[in-house]
Amino acid sequence: MNLYISSLTDEQRIVDNFLSTRTELYNIEPIGIGTPYVESLLSYIARLAEKHNISETVMLKEVFAPVMENENIKNDVSQRGNTYREYLANGISTFSLELISSIEKLTGRKDIQYTTMINWGGLFNENIVNRNRRWCPLCLEMFQQELGIVYEPLLWAISEIKVCDRHQISLKELCPYCGKKMSYIHRNLVVGHCQYCLKWLGESNSNENKILSEEHKNILKNYKQLFEVSPSLRSFPNKNCISNVLQKLEKQLEFESLLQFSKFLGVNYSGMFYWVKNKRIPSPEKLLHIANKLNCTIYEMISDENLYLKVKVDGFDKSRKVSKITIVEMESYLRDAAYTKSTPKSLAEVCRVGGFSRTAAKNNFPHLSQLILDNFALHRKNSFIQRQKDIEIILKKILTHERPKSLKKSLEDYGLSIRTAQKYHPKLCKKIIERNQQYIKVEKEKRIKVIENEIKTIMFDLHQKGIYPSFSQINKVISDPNIFMERHFRTFRKEMLESLVIKFEG
Ligand SMILES: [Zn+2]
Ligand SMILES: [Zn+2]
Repeated sequence: MNLYISSLTDEQRIVDNFLSTRTELYNIEPIGIGTPYVESLLSYIARLAEKHNISETVMLKEVFAPVMENENIKNDVSQRGNTYREYLANGISTFSLELISSIEKLTGRKDIQYTTMINWGGLFNENIVNRNRRWCPLCLEMFQQELGIVYEPLLWAISEIKVCDRHQISLKELCPYCGKKMSYIHRNLVVGHCQYCLKWLGESNSNENKILSEEHKNILKNYKQLFEVSPSLRSFPNKNCISNVLQKLEKQLEFESLLQFSKFLGVNYSGMFYWVKNKRIPSPEKLLHIANKLNCTIYEMISDENLYLKVKVDGFDKSRKVSKITIVEMESYLRDAAYTKSTPKSLAEVCRVGGFSRTAAKNNFPHLSQLILDNFALHRKNSFIQRQKDIEIILKKILTHERPKSLKKSLEDYGLSIRTAQKYHPKLCKKIIERNQQYIKVEKEKRIKVIENEIKTIMFDLHQKGIYPSFSQINKVISDPNIFMERHFRTFRKEMLESLVIKFEG
């Protein structure tokens, strides 16, 4: 497999031969699709060239360029066998797309996309991949010995990954023989070798101290999961994904503000603001940081609908109640409440006692939540109707009382407030008030008549006895001497006096 094509004449001969005998490339399989150690696109292309006994740059120029569609890339590649920032091919770039579609056209394969980060363009920018080739010398040796095929995993291309998790040593970026950094596309490139001094980069053992920290492990875990799940996914996150996830979590976790949420996540408020507004996406480092704070991986963060149930917010603010109950417990709790034989409770009350939010209940069990809401509404409606009936009976009874009283006094006898009575039966209340007013009016008139009659009788008596009916004379015999404090009776006496005088004179 370590065949080099050093002479241009030879190269041209082989290419011509290749092109005349074949219209397609060998359909070789990328290594490890759907596993954490999936091969990178640029490793695959180098192996493809090797398999066809041509140099990588010649293959790109002569075989790939003709089927490419993007004019700029096509020109670059057909002239130089390479393009500007070729390392982006393993990540998320137009070059990735051009290479993927070229290879798929030429090999008929459909899985080349999984050798890049292209599907995860909703979560990451192009800064996801490293500028130079990196490798673990022990892995290279292991691939050679155990697989018989040498390849470079996509993990090695991810900028954030600095350590091999199998061997727990740092990934190498400089050739130990010539000290050079290596690009991903080169006419002399053979996977596992330095393209400048052509030396084999594998080693059978290492003196290095093991350096795999928890942080390294966590970073690796996150990316390995993405590589693993990719081929089984029907759709991938779009550019709104992070914004949507953050907005949803802010609500579900019941933060009071974006500022509070950003404090909880330990991120800058302005960064948070732009992520939520979908103006920017977090750097890979920040994204990992957020996932860690949420106690999950990046993939779980974007795919787990019930993530908020697992997030521990307790330590952040002691006053906040965060549910620790499982989804199964929540369901059984809601089911009990929905089908209870006793008095229905409101959804708010059910959730408060259950120790989870109404949003959690509604999102997870919309049907049960609706049932609780409906039962409670019906219960309230029935209670209202019953109460209305009870109060109607009381008010109608009040209306039959012989001696009406004020509404307030009448209701007091039954332990009711004016407000309650008016809420249920405003018309009956009005009737009671009017009835009382009418009664007072009649009573007042009756009293006036009685007193007037008394005054009249007294005045006639005095008159017949020849005594002038002065106030003091009347007051000597009248039942209530204070009566003349009232203007009405003073006027009445005056009128009486005038009629007596007329009679007297007549
Ligand atoms: Zn290794
Ligand atoms: Zn070298």
